[in-house]
Amino acid sequence: MNEKRNMHGGCIDNASAKMIAFCGLDCKKCDAYIATKNNDQALREKTARLWSELNHATILPEHINCEGCKVDGVKTFYCESLCAIRQCALAKGVATCAHCENMDGCQTLETVVSNNPDAMKNLQEQRLESARLLLRPWRETDAEVLYKYASDPDVGPRAGWPPHKTVDESREIIRTLFNNDTTWAIELKETGEAIGAMGYGPSCDCALPSRDGEPIVGYWVAKPYWNQGICTEALRLMLDHIRKTTDIPSFISGHFVDNPASGKVMEKCGFVPTGEICYDENMYQGTGRPIRVLRLEIASM
Ligand code: SF4
Ligand code: SF4
Repeated sequence: MNEKRNMHGGCIDNASAKMIAFCGLDCKKCDAYIATKNNDQALREKTARLWSELNHATILPEHINCEGCKVDGVKTFYCESLCAIRQCALAKGVATCAHCENMDGCQTLETVVSNNPDAMKNLQEQRLESARLLLRPWRETDAEVLYKYASDPDVGPRAGWPPHKTVDESREIIRTLFNNDTTWAIELKETGEAIGAMGYGPSCDCALPSRDGEPIVGYWVAKPYWNQGICTEALRLMLDHIRKTTDIPSFISGHFVDNPASGKVMEKCGFVPTGEICYDENMYQGTGRPIRVLRLEIASM
């Protein structure tokens, strides 16, 4: 579907999902986060006593205020200024340590995860890897290869977006549309090359008959890799990750009726046609092209 509108985050109803910090801890399970969100003074006092004992330092209840590692807002002094993992991950620009190529054997990370197996489990869930593929964030250094594949006039229009015209345009798309936590490059492990994009985002600005807060799935793969099961492998990988890490109950998607291969990928991954057809004139070459609508209920996976 439409790269320009799908590949970003937004109005998705996912309030009870985990909130994974750079180190893999789930901030939503942290007493500092819970005390802050509920303004629970008794929990602040209890946490301050416990953390003082564990760290052999004086930590006062007023220090127990944190809205989470990766969101704008108040943080504990440790997380804001001292946490070496957070500082390292911010400097590297990675979404979590699981997105860092140096994670295996990283001593900085080891100091946290050795005491907290849940953190490692959460990080492993963040790693999106299958037999042939890695789903990882887009990097500006992918601009040339993105242009090489996305400038092909047979690729974008099938999904409702225009072919890229220059490497600079591809770079700008990486900096903007692809720069979020729910859009990934499909990397072929054998070559390390980004050969497509996979992601989900808000459906509120498209013509699909979505439920309230229901996200839309979008993907494409470069022409040399068509008919090799790459899209199906990548979509399964993303959906499995979503099932394990979020509470999103369903997804909507669709494909131009003149691009049935895209529908086959969805159906192989559990999407079921809703029986509806819609039109979206805002999509590139969308005028007069019927779109077949499909939905995936995550519970059916
Ligand atoms: S960043 Fe804040 S909420 Fe997250 S684990 Fe650290 S103290 Fe807890
Ligand atoms: S080097 Fe270690 S601490 Fe830094 S981002 Fe990578 S895994 Fe995390």
